[in-house]
Amino acid sequence: MIIVMKPNSGEVEVNHVIEKVREVGCKEILLEGTNRKVIAVIGDKRDIPPEYWDVIPGVEKAVPILTPYKIASREAKKTDTEIKINDQVLGGKKIGVIAGPCAVESQDQINFIAEGVKKAGAIALRGGAFKPRTSPYSFQGLREEGLEYLARAREATGLAIVTEILSPEHIELVSSYVDVLQIGTRNMSNFLLLQAVGECKKPVILKRGMSATLDEFLLAGEYILSHGNPNVILCERGIRTFETHTRFTLSLSTVPALKRLTHLPVIVDPSHGTGVRDLVNPMSKGSIAVGADGLILEVHQDPEKSYVDGPQALTIEDFESLMSEARAVAQAVGREI
Ligand code: PEP
Ligand code: MN
Repeated sequence: MIIVMKPNSGEVEVNHVIEKVREVGCKEILLEGTNRKVIAVIGDKRDIPPEYWDVIPGVEKAVPILTPYKIASREAKKTDTEIKINDQVLGGKKIGVIAGPCAVESQDQINFIAEGVKKAGAIALRGGAFKPRTSPYSFQGLREEGLEYLARAREATGLAIVTEILSPEHIELVSSYVDVLQIGTRNMSNFLLLQAVGECKKPVILKRGMSATLDEFLLAGEYILSHGNPNVILCERGIRTFETHTRFTLSLSTVPALKRLTHLPVIVDPSHGTGVRDLVNPMSKGSIAVGADGLILEVHQDPEKSYVDGPQALTIEDFESLMSEARAVAQAVGREI
């Protein structure tokens, strides 16, 4: 932390700040400039917010030097984190594609899609059993029945299962059926849920809140990490902007920016990020080109009949073409699918 003193602050104020610095167990270096004094605080005290210093008489502002996310930051770990999802790895050279319907609708539906996406090269099957719907009158998911169908689809195909978790009370139930827990955009700031998945050791896909800054997103990841779960995958899924031609605005510059700030794997969800089937393929290839470690995509056997998010769902044939085109892009950037 760097504490910048007001131009008119005198020795009394400076000494008082130094006293406070020592009181919290840090050391100080006083730099006397021509117009003002600056105090460099030596010691990692990220739990003390800049506001703690800002209110001290004579202080103009406190400027943090270290990122507020201790465990998630690149400073803490230089090498990319690789996360095991059953027999697959996400975050290494191979780009992991997770695919499946928005919502589990029936055993036949989920098995059919699971087989299709597995054949095309997906490493895991997604499917919502507890759906966070904007309207309370929309389909809310098959709940435990949906989890059972997902578990049977895993038995049939060997694919790892990804599903969304809505509440800390569901952790025991949901994690008894699935391999990866997903925290959706609407729950990125549900701190009790973040803590609860932090205490469980299953890999977690954390989606960016639709109005969250990168710092807020990384701090949400930090909640999970600091509660003991190192298996955090960050997912860019689009943010709310004034633009209406897509469902959300898929902010792809987030990917290289996050890769610089954190060692955690970063995946992209072009299905929710665009909401438009025809845009999912180009934005998926774009995501790979800018360094994403994986994709999460909605695929439906008959999008017209999909209970949820039909307009953005790929057919199995669309998914097959996307996978073969994406392979070429992956190769061009030194990755593989
Ligand atoms: C989902 O993946 O099914 C979902 C609801 O995504 P998001 O939380 O990004 O809207
Ligand atoms: Mn969806």
